[in-house]
Amino acid sequence: LETKLPRVGTTIFSVMSQLALEHNAVNLGQGFPDFAPPARLTQALTRAMADGHNQYPPGIGLPALREQIAHKTERLYGRATDAATEVTVTSGATEAIFAAIAAVVRAGDEVLVLDPAYDCYEPAIDLQNATAVRVPLTLPDFAVDWQRVRDAITARTRLIIVNSPHNPTGAVFSAADLDALADALRDTSVWVLADEVYEHMVFDGAAHQSVARHAELAERSFIVSSFGKTYHCTGWKVGYCIAPPALTAEFRKVHQYLTFATFGPAQWAFADMLAAEPEHYLQLPAFYQHKRDAFRAMLAETPLTRLDVPGGYFQLVDYSAVRDVDDVTFCQWLVREAGVAAVPLSPFFETPPDTRLLRLCFAKNDATLTAGVERLAQLR
Ligand code: PMP
Ligand code: GLN
Repeated sequence: LETKLPRVGTTIFSVMSQLALEHNAVNLGQGFPDFAPPARLTQALTRAMADGHNQYPPGIGLPALREQIAHKTERLYGRATDAATEVTVTSGATEAIFAAIAAVVRAGDEVLVLDPAYDCYEPAIDLQNATAVRVPLTLPDFAVDWQRVRDAITARTRLIIVNSPHNPTGAVFSAADLDALADALRDTSVWVLADEVYEHMVFDGAAHQSVARHAELAERSFIVSSFGKTYHCTGWKVGYCIAPPALTAEFRKVHQYLTFATFGPAQWAFADMLAAEPEHYLQLPAFYQHKRDAFRAMLAETPLTRLDVPGGYFQLVDYSAVRDVDDVTFCQWLVREAGVAAVPLSPFFETPPDTRLLRLCFAKNDATLTAGVERLAQLR
C-alpha cells in the first residue's frame, strides 16, 4: 500500500494517554477534563433518548440548537448570525475543520498554517493534495509576525488557519491581531479558518477576539468551536461551524457526505443547556482562571519554569533545569520515572526550535493537579 499520509503516525495525544495508563501516571497530557459535565446537560441527554429522539436529526443540525448558537454568537461577538444559512452542527470541531478545508482547498493550493499548530490541520490539507505553508510564531510569547504572514501569501494561497486561544501555546489574539489579519488579506481571495474551540478560556479580563467581531474578516471566515471544550464532554464529539451563506453552502456539501448528521440526543441536550443556563459559558473564564492560578502557584515549588498562559487550558513549562534532553525523550522519561504524563511541544512544529518545553493540561480536578505537582516537585 502506498500511503497517502506518509508523515502521519499515531497522534502524540493518544501516545501519551496510553503511556499514562501503562505507567499508572497522573495524566496531564491529552487535553480533556477529568470532571463531569453540568448535571443539567447529562440529564437532558438521557431525557432526549427516553423521549425518543433517537433517529437522524436534520443533517445540518437541530434547528433549536442552531438558533442557540446563532444567539450566542450575536450576544458575545455582536455579529447577527442566521441559523438557517450560516450555522452547521458537526461531529466535533475536528469534523468542522476537515469539512472547511475540503470545501475550499483544491489540489495545488497553499494553506497558511502558523507554526506550531494543532495537529489535525495539516493531514486534512495533505489529503486535498494542497501544501501547508508554515509561518513561525515569534518566541518568547508565540505572537504572530503579520509581516511574515503577508510575505507568505502567494497567488496560490487559498486559506489561512488561525487558532486563538492557541493550542499548544495558550497565546491569544488581540483586537490589533484581527486588524492585522484583515489588512493582510484585503485584496486577496484568501479564506480564513478560525479555530476558536477555547473561546471561553481567555483570562485576566481580556475578551476573546473572535473573528466574528470583525465584520470584514467574518465575511471570509469559517469559525469553528466545540461543545466538548465548553461543557467538559470531549467524548460526545459535538461542535459547529459558522460561516457566511456561500461558504456554508459549500461546507454543507462536504458535511452531508462526511457524516451526514451529528449525534442527535446531544444536540437536544445542548439546545436545552444553552437556553436554560447561559451563565455556564459566561462563568468559564473565571472557572479556568482559578484552576490556572492554583496550578501555577503549585508549580512554583517545582524546578519547572512557567510560561504565561493568557488563554486555553494548557500550561507550558521549561524543564531545562531538570534534564538537557529533547522534549519527546523527556516526556517518556517523565511518565516512566516521575509518573506524570505531559505532551512534548516538538510534534506541533514543522521545524521545532531548540527549546526545552512541554505542555501540561490544567482542566483537571484540584486533587489531580495536586497529585501531579507532588510528583513534579520530586524532580531533581
Ligand atoms: N482544535 C483545537 C485547537 C483543539 O485543541 C481541539 C481538541 N482538543 C480540536 C480542535 C478538536 O475539537 P473536538 O474534540 O471538538 O473535535
Ligand atoms: N485537543 C486535545 C489536546 O490538545 C486532544 C484531542 C485529541 O486527542 N484528538 O490535547
